[in-house]
Amino acid sequence: MSKPEKFFDENGLRLDGRRVDEIRPMKIEIGVLSRADGSCYLEWGNNKVLAGVFGPRELHPRRMQRPDTAIVRYRYNMAAFSVEDRIRPGQNRRATEISKVSREAFEPVVLTHLYPGAVIDVFAEILQADAGTRTAAINAATIALADAGIPMKGLISACAVGKVDGKLVLDLSKDEDNYGDADLPVAMTQDGDITLIQMDGNLTQDEFKEAMELVKVGCKQILEIQREALKGKFSQFDTEEIEPKIVAGVSESEVEIDEAVETDDTGTEEEVEDVEEDIVSNDENNEKPDENADYEDVEEGEDK
Ligand code: UDP
Repeated sequence: MSKPEKFFDENGLRLDGRRVDEIRPMKIEIGVLSRADGSCYLEWGNNKVLAGVFGPRELHPRRMQRPDTAIVRYRYNMAAFSVEDRIRPGQNRRATEISKVSREAFEPVVLTHLYPGAVIDVFAEILQADAGTRTAAINAATIALADAGIPMKGLISACAVGKVDGKLVLDLSKDEDNYGDADLPVAMTQDGDITLIQMDGNLTQDEFKEAMELVKVGCKQILEIQREALKGKFSQFDTEEIEPKIVAGVSESEVEIDEAVETDDTGTEEEVEDVEEDIVSNDENNEKPDENADYEDVEEGEDK
């Protein structure tokens, strides 16, 4: 592929018809892998990415366990057939680096302290690459983590911004990535805190500031797409019918129990009283669990 003669038409539109502040179309499918705890298939322009989450599960070998937290492992991998020139299968320097920075992009939001001694494995497989694969993989992995029910402070959204022919553009296409002047992939929390930032090429300080504003706009748009996808998948939990189950099943506040008594749609008043008693007795017996209890019954020498 050779360098295009120009990157913008007379109306200032890019080669694929986008405005400078427009991202490529994104499509998200959730729960596509039956053996994973959470999964997501994501298309973003011509990028095709599959993310799978396994865990939290006990980490082996046990000497690698952390007594106070779960560890997150992230593996970014490009399929040999994902690019124009077939690439050698397996991890290379680039994939190792992307795996590391992507894992770090999630560390601030995943509530790992809830799973001491455990591991959460995240696999991101690039099936078709067309620039922006690390950000596409992060966007897919966030959804897969949510699908796995891993508690997180919020979602992570990622997008690249760059400079082409002296102009800042959001979400670089392949040509813009290959022949542009700068490429700046960014990931951020839904509150706008940056968890990943890398840069290839050169930007002036003013351009950098402007680029950061532009990429925030991109990440916000992606966050909306991610939220819509999750709502689409889990919308059944929005219905009123689910509320009584929460009240009768686990120890929710007394206020909700009172409401359940009033409406009496979760069972008899007696049943609700039983739940109230359970809550009180649970509180009374609120002994601190032994952090290592889960692992004591695992035989020595089981490590793989
Ligand atoms: N690419 C490739 N072969 C490689 C690595 C990358 O053809 O070994 C292509 C691929 O389309 C990728 C693009 O170059 O999306 C940009 O790669 P970069 O390293 O900037 O990462 P990305 O933008 O995909 O996160």
